[in-house]
Amino acid sequence: MHVETFSVGPLGCNCSIIADLEARRAIVVDPGGDYDKVHARLQALDVKVDVIVHTHTHLDHVGCTAELQRATGAPASIHDADRFLYRLLPVQAALIGTSIPERADMDDALVDGRALRAGGLELGVLHTPGHTPGSCSFVVTGDGRTQVFAGDTLFRGSIGRTDLWGGDHDTILRSIHTKLLSLPDDAVVVTGHGPSTTIGDERAKNSFLRRR
Ligand SMILES: [Zn+2]
Ligand SMILES: [Zn+2]
Repeated sequence: MHVETFSVGPLGCNCSIIADLEARRAIVVDPGGDYDKVHARLQALDVKVDVIVHTHTHLDHVGCTAELQRATGAPASIHDADRFLYRLLPVQAALIGTSIPERADMDDALVDGRALRAGGLELGVLHTPGHTPGSCSFVVTGDGRTQVFAGDTLFRGSIGRTDLWGGDHDTILRSIHTKLLSLPDDAVVVTGHGPSTTIGDERAKNSFLRRR
């Protein structure tokens, strides 16, 4: 299992490519807004994209999905509870001050407990609402390690903001405590922006997660 993460777009969204290099198949998590960068990495790895998934439907995470989908033919998925945010793309674009991206054909394959496959990879879907109603985290296990792609739900030493459309503070805390903190301490957390962390570090040190 090959995993690489790099930042895309002006807001520094973390895009990840999870690849089975033997089968030459890949999953793209949050392509964000820089198709050229994502495409270059896929070419360098020489992999075909089977699945495009989004941790949530804020513009900085979904901006170039239509281009990537056109180039790869892969299904692109969000959680159904974020569908309204995809309709709000023009409003999101105005807020950030960018142009309105082209619309992808988003399905709603992100269902809690479901597994998506590419080559020998299996990506587990956890519905972790709070940052947005349809926020999801993705879990992959390979080579004896667990990695979770938490989007803007959990950051190193912080949690996602809940003051945007449909955000809810109690809900994000419940998602983190019941879903993410049930993962093993050594699970690596790829966050939506900025550095990675581990479940154990956040359990021990993240002051937003202290029980009152
Ligand atoms: Zn967000
Ligand atoms: Zn974000």
